[in-house]
Amino acid sequence: MVKILITEFINQESLDDLNNTFEINFDEKLWEKKEELKEIIKDYDGLIVRNKTKVNKDILSSANNLKFIGRLGVGLDNIDTEFCKTKNIHVQPATGMNADSVAEYVISSSMSLIKKIPMFHHGTVKGDWPRTTIKSSEINKKCIGIVGFGTIGRKVADYSLKNGLNVLAYDPYIKKLDDNEKNYKLSSIEEIFEDADIISLHLPLTEETKNLINKSSFTKMKKQPIIINTSRGSVVNENDLIDAYNQNLISGFALDVFENEPITKDLYERITSEMNCILTPHISGVTTESNIRVSNFIVKKAIDFFK
Ligand code: NAD
Repeated sequence: MVKILITEFINQESLDDLNNTFEINFDEKLWEKKEELKEIIKDYDGLIVRNKTKVNKDILSSANNLKFIGRLGVGLDNIDTEFCKTKNIHVQPATGMNADSVAEYVISSSMSLIKKIPMFHHGTVKGDWPRTTIKSSEINKKCIGIVGFGTIGRKVADYSLKNGLNVLAYDPYIKKLDDNEKNYKLSSIEEIFEDADIISLHLPLTEETKNLINKSSFTKMKKQPIIINTSRGSVVNENDLIDAYNQNLISGFALDVFENEPITKDLYERITSEMNCILTPHISGVTTESNIRVSNFIVKKAIDFFK
């Protein structure tokens, strides 16, 4: 019988479906036990992970029976996909299954930050009643620059348009927009830096995208934009971002992902509750609904694959 190892949380109903089809070992803390994982993985045909399990060469070199890796999510930066190719292991992300959750996060945090909700909240709970001292704005007719125009970037564009935003899209791997995307403008990253009121990042972490948004990028941003990062922490230089906020080069930021997760003390000590910012623990793609979609999708793919 095909044996599947699951090293992180999976939706219960999807687990039941797997149990009916395969021999399953489910331990949602196994990602922490690297030596144990390396030892037992040799017995398994399939592996299902989220983003905490580091599926690197060291683990994969013991995985002699492994043929399928299901990723309960999208980013593949925790999996050595090149090494998987050499071992003929199929890597399956849950493409698109959490796109709505991320898009809702981008729109809700854009509205909150442009409306300065974090600052109003802080002032009010402190007893300041900052009704006239903080100036806020609306997102209607503002401009969002989407960096990385893949599955999630496109979903964000759709939600943005429906909420009255003009959409600029930057993606060096897209030469032309589809016929049904005439309301968006394909732009250079410089145009986005100059024209966007909101800059939202939706690209993978690679050697090319690491530190893409840095000190020099912030100096080119003309409209004191807000920055939203739901992609991967290292795409933005976090210290440069906080410096840019303190120098009024940007007017707010929402970070769902960080270079080091959980967030380091050095970083959170630089962030104060007076700032117009929202920090969340890598949850923009995680909702009750997306958890079900993601788990069902990967389980179906695993069943189809081994059939
Ligand atoms: P995708 O592969 O569909 O799209 C990524 C896009 O980025 C592609 O169109 C690609 O051409 C583009 N790209 C690559 N290099 C680029 C560069 N240098 N500049 C601009 N664009 C570039 O991926 P997706 O499903 O849309 O996911 C996007 C990102 O969101 C990934 O990093 C993923 O890890 C992250 N993500 C985070 C969460 C979360 O909970 N925070 C959830 C889902 C996805």
